[in-house]
Amino acid sequence: MSTKIALIYTGGTIGMVKDANSESLQAFDFQNLLNSIPELQLLNCDIDTISFETPLDSSNITPRHWISIAEIIEQHYDTHHGFVVLHGSDTMSYSASALSFMLEHLNKPVIFTGSQLPIGDLRTDAKENLITSIQLASLRQNNAAVIKEVGLYFEYKLYRGNRTTKINADHFEAFASNNFPPLVTSGVQLQVQHDLLQKNFTQDHLKVHKSFDTNVVIVKLFPGLQPSVLTSILETTNLKGVVLETYGSGNATTEDWFLEVLKTAISKGIYIVNVTQCSGGMVHMGHYETSKKMREFGVISAKDMTTEAAITKLMYLLGKGTPKSTFQVVFETSIRGELTEN
Ligand code: ASP
Repeated sequence: MSTKIALIYTGGTIGMVKDANSESLQAFDFQNLLNSIPELQLLNCDIDTISFETPLDSSNITPRHWISIAEIIEQHYDTHHGFVVLHGSDTMSYSASALSFMLEHLNKPVIFTGSQLPIGDLRTDAKENLITSIQLASLRQNNAAVIKEVGLYFEYKLYRGNRTTKINADHFEAFASNNFPPLVTSGVQLQVQHDLLQKNFTQDHLKVHKSFDTNVVIVKLFPGLQPSVLTSILETTNLKGVVLETYGSGNATTEDWFLEVLKTAISKGIYIVNVTQCSGGMVHMGHYETSKKMREFGVISAKDMTTEAAITKLMYLLGKGTPKSTFQVVFETSIRGELTEN
């Protein structure tokens, strides 16, 4: 039986064309996309294509669309060996992180990819990204998938999706995974780091979690942040969780007003997650005086998670109704390889 791949097109530059009048890039018909890559027929697999009815620039992606992607995977899970999700690069790391949490007991590859230039462009990066992603989704050993997790492939590297961040709007190398090495590097051959891949030992069938609580916010600290601004954000009606982007290894001002505002929010049941603004490295609360107090009154550590993984994990755990008694422990534990435990 040949390998069956489901190619899910959500939108993004990869399938866009320039509007003749306005010169701006707009999504176009998915069938044209496939016609632009006759090489796909040379691959040793059957590709079924499923397209969003209205392809989206990824700036318009919302949790509702994450659920649509997950439902397409769920519907085709038993009939297909792997999945490739074509997605705009701007919010791809958020979607890949969200899907990693949604797809429990995943036993097959889900590879996100896209491109910086449209597929029809002479210098496009779309073809290599798409063709290699399909090859990665087809990789099998001993009658089982090699990759059993949500990955993101761009510019010769497959990363764990929930470890990535978009770092460049102009370069072909648009993504980084500063706290976790690439799972596969594509050169003359595909170099698979088998020891780094998620192992799914369970026999349980895929379980898809479809509820997110979006009563959350990301707040980035900066010197000069005013008490009134932070207070009004944390007093937002129904707010349930905050990802606080702090300095260095999780540090923040020790001024009384700041600690009081956080303490009040926590006492009202709002979860505060400490994630570093640095593009690499780990939060160590208590390492400096400037983070010790936060630890003492219950701020949660995102450890070395990206902001994208932290905010989607927060929405996921809240949506799942994770009880207060275990929330911090679950957040600080790796559930899909999104953080390094120490
Ligand atoms: N604006 C586009 C998007 O994210 C950029 C891309 O596809 O890379 O949909």
